[in-house]
Amino acid sequence: MTVLQLRGVRKQYGELEVLHGIDLTIDAGELTAVVGPSGSGKTTLLQLMGTLDQPSAGSVFIAGQDAAAMSDRERSALRARQIGFVFQQFFLTPTQSAVDNVGNGLLYTGLPRAQRRARAAEALGRVGLGHRLAHRPGELSGGERQRVALARAVVGRPAVVLADEPTGNLDSNSGAAIVDLLRELHAAGTTIVVITHDTGLAAALPRRIGMRDGVIEADS
Ligand code: ADP
Ligand code: MG
Repeated sequence: MTVLQLRGVRKQYGELEVLHGIDLTIDAGELTAVVGPSGSGKTTLLQLMGTLDQPSAGSVFIAGQDAAAMSDRERSALRARQIGFVFQQFFLTPTQSAVDNVGNGLLYTGLPRAQRRARAAEALGRVGLGHRLAHRPGELSGGERQRVALARAVVGRPAVVLADEPTGNLDSNSGAAIVDLLRELHAAGTTIVVITHDTGLAAALPRRIGMRDGVIEADS
């Protein structure tokens, strides 16, 4: 089953075209690295895959639905249900506990807070933070913060998790722990696309898509 498909996707910023016609299919259960040098268009690609931005030309299908054919509201709902995001900078709410940061990933469900918290606690357990539920981000290490962000990304069991340089702000040990966790989540059935310029990280993943100057130059 295909969860994500890009057809002839181009992206221009003003006069400058930074993606030159990307065709890409991600199937359910894949763990894919997108690699390439800085400036090659990886983040732009992730924003389009995640419907955070719109292509200048071409189409993006999420779970078979054409993102461009939807209203903003429908697209937001699709994003909330089907896509989990992890960013280099974590983007946790500093005033909230780990369990509430993760539980906020379920606001779209309309579930009562107690149920959101119960599911968030379970997701934090999956990332090895069952003993840190009440900690705020400032009371956690960088690696732990990124694990909270991963728990938030998977708590709603989205069709795909998109991670942009998730180890970019971490020391090598914490980074390796995040990679191990991505592999565990994948083994448990999560579809994941990880963007990275770290070729060592990418080498550990089953599929690698190489980007250069706004085109896919390799897919193995
Ligand atoms: P990567 O993530 O591989 O480092 P990006 O997707 O961030 O690459 O950037 C690809 C190219 O697009 C770069 O040349 C960058 O300067 C340019 N770019 C990215 N975002 C914008 C923007 N909002 N406006 C103009 N140019 C942009
Ligand atoms: Mg980038």
